Amino acid sequence: MQLAVLPGDDIGPEITVATLDVLAAVKRHFSLDIGVEHHAIGLESLKQSGATLTEAVFAAAREADGIILGPVATAIYPPADKGGINPSAYFRKNLDLYANIRPARTFGRATQRVSAFDLVVVRENTEGFYADRNMTAGDADILVTPDVAIAIRKVTREASTRIAEAGFRLARARRRRVTLVHKANVLKRSDGLFLDACRAVAADYPDVNVDDVIIDAMTAHLVRDPGRFDVIVTTNMFGDILSDLAGELAGSLGLAGALNAGATHAVAQATHGSAPDIAGQDRANPMALIRSLGMLLHWLGERHGAANFIAAGRAIEEAVGATIAAGETTPDLGGRIGTKAVGRIVAGRVARTASAA
Ligand code: ATP
Repeated sequence: MQLAVLPGDDIGPEITVATLDVLAAVKRHFSLDIGVEHHAIGLESLKQSGATLTEAVFAAAREADGIILGPVATAIYPPADKGGINPSAYFRKNLDLYANIRPARTFGRATQRVSAFDLVVVRENTEGFYADRNMTAGDADILVTPDVAIAIRKVTREASTRIAEAGFRLARARRRRVTLVHKANVLKRSDGLFLDACRAVAADYPDVNVDDVIIDAMTAHLVRDPGRFDVIVTTNMFGDILSDLAGELAGSLGLAGALNAGATHAVAQATHGSAPDIAGQDRANPMALIRSLGMLLHWLGERHGAANFIAAGRAIEEAVGATIAAGETTPDLGGRIGTKAVGRIVAGRVARTASAA
C-alpha cells in the first residue's frame, strides 16, 4: 500500500517527522506493506511551483491508498488566482471526503479539564456554511455592498443521510448512542431537513439510542457532563467548533486526531491548525497527527480486510495513552519533552505493544 505524505506549513513538517517515526515502527512490528512518498504543499510548494497545491501533487495523492496531510497556514495564502489553494478544502471537495471523524477522549487525570469522556464528533464535510464547498461556481460568502454581506449555507438530504449513516455505523462499533446536534428551532428549514434525514436513518438502527440537542445547549452539556456522549452527528460548522471544544476539554488541541473519509479515499489530518505561534521550536504536540495516522491505518484495515493494519491502528492509540500516562509529553500537556522525542517515545511503545501481543 502507498501513503502520500504532505507535511504542510508551520508546525506541519515537525509533527510529520514524529508521525513518520511511529509509522516506521508499526510497519516493522506489524509487517505492514507500506510505501511512503513525500510531496510539497503549502508555502513550500508556492515557492517552488507557484501554487500551494499543484495538479500533479493532487493527482499523485489521489492515486495513493491513503494520505497524511499536515496542517496548512491558509490564513496567509494569496488568493486562489495567485496560487493560494486550500489543500485541505481541495481534498475534501475533490475526493468527496464527506465524513470528518473527530474522536476526543480523556486520558486520566493527567490531561482532562472536565469529567472523563470518550466521544466522536462525526461532522458533515461537504456543504454547510463552507463557502468554497457549496456552490458549483463562485463562492457563497458574498459582499452585496461594502457594508452588507451574506453567507449561504447548503444542506441536502443526500449529504445529511450519508453522514448520519456514517455516525450510526460507528455507534454500532462503540456504545450505541447517537446525539444529533442542530439549531432546527431557528434554522427551521435547513437544520429541519438535516434532522429529518438523520431520523430517517435512525429508524434503520433500532439498536442504537438516539437523541438530539440544540447546538448552544450542547456546548454547556459538553462541559458539564461530557461522559454522556458517544457519537455526535452534526453539520459542518457546528462539528468544526464542537470538535475543537471537545479536543481542548480532553487536554489539548494537540491531541485531537481526525480522519476525513469518503467512499474511496481517506486523509489523516489533525483537527488543529498550523500553530504559527510555536512553529520551529520543537514544542508542538505531534500526537494529533500520530493518532490520525492510527485512524487511517484502521480505515485501510477495514477497507482491505487487513487485520494487521487494524492492530497497528489500535497499538498507536494504546502507545499514545501510555505515553501521556507516563507524563512524557510536550508543554501543552504540561510536559517538557520535544516534538521529535515524543515521536520516538510513542514509536518505542508501539514496538513493545507489538512484542507483547
Ligand atoms: P486554524 O484556523 O487553521 O485552525 P488557528 O491558528 O486558529 O488555525 P491553531 O493553529 O489550531 O489555530 O492554534 C490554536 C492554538 O492551539 C495555538 O495557541 C496553538 O499554538 C495551539 N496548538 C495547535 N496545535 C497544537 C499542537 N499540535 N501542539 C501544541 N499546541 C497546539
